[in-house]
Amino acid sequence: MKLIIANNIGFCFGVKRSVDITEKILHDNRAVAYVTGDLVHNEKVMDDLKKKGLKIFDPSEKKLINIRKNSVIIIRAHGLPPKETEYLKNTFESVVDTTCPIVSKMFETAESLVSEGRKLFVLGNKEHPEMIALNGHVREAIIFSDIRELEEFLNKEQLDKNTKIALISQTTKDLRTFCEAAYTLTKNFKDLRIVKTICDFTVEREHEVEELAKKSELVIVVGSSKSSNTRKLFNIARKFTNTILISNTEQLDDSLKNFKTISIVSGTSTPNNLIEEIVGFIKNKFGEVEVSWRGQI
Ligand code: SF4
Repeated sequence: MKLIIANNIGFCFGVKRSVDITEKILHDNRAVAYVTGDLVHNEKVMDDLKKKGLKIFDPSEKKLINIRKNSVIIIRAHGLPPKETEYLKNTFESVVDTTCPIVSKMFETAESLVSEGRKLFVLGNKEHPEMIALNGHVREAIIFSDIRELEEFLNKEQLDKNTKIALISQTTKDLRTFCEAAYTLTKNFKDLRIVKTICDFTVEREHEVEELAKKSELVIVVGSSKSSNTRKLFNIARKFTNTILISNTEQLDDSLKNFKTISIVSGTSTPNNLIEEIVGFIKNKFGEVEVSWRGQI
């Protein structure tokens, strides 16, 4: 059996930064640490952080008066609506903002396009925390998750062809759908600005998973099904080959021995040690495994 480990694997820089800052706060142990939701979409990482003392704060629970003293709230990489950030500043002793700089840049781009008087179209999932945060930065963004939803909106609204519009994306959406959305909007409007706000780190993973899927009998996508970019990698790989999505070694069974070439890829919220654990598990279980690491972990 040949096992190929993707070059772009493990935490991305934004998630790593957020986790490192949180680990340091927990290690210093000077205040009770809260976070505004799952810091990363990975159950194991979250369990470990909770064991070290991290608590989850639900911003809809606004009855926090007693925890204000000696408390720190960490804003996760997806960011927050500005009003929520203000609320946290008035509620906690300190606020540590770990919003990924690429996400912050997308919020700024959105604000700037709206201030030009453009109607803003955003490829994204309305319920994703990054899109919830965006909705606090700009009013009336038209968020659609795929081309069908975009076309339904356009058919229903029948906007004037001369309406000034702009198109951006949630940072983890796929490039192909973004390009299709740009094409659809170009057919419908004359004055269109397109800004690619998709994170390059996720695009690199998209390209690599496609390349690996074409040469593998099986792709193992490691990550949580809650993670949008992990699901994206799974959907790309399964167009080309057998694909499974796992979050731990217990989900691997004997069927692996039926495949001669297996590739391992991961979402951006999957820790490196989980990849190492999975590789070690496969080597121990199946004996003759030739492992090829494409990059450093
Ligand atoms: S995927 Fe990109 S935008 Fe999202 S946290 Fe990672 S580096 Fe930042």
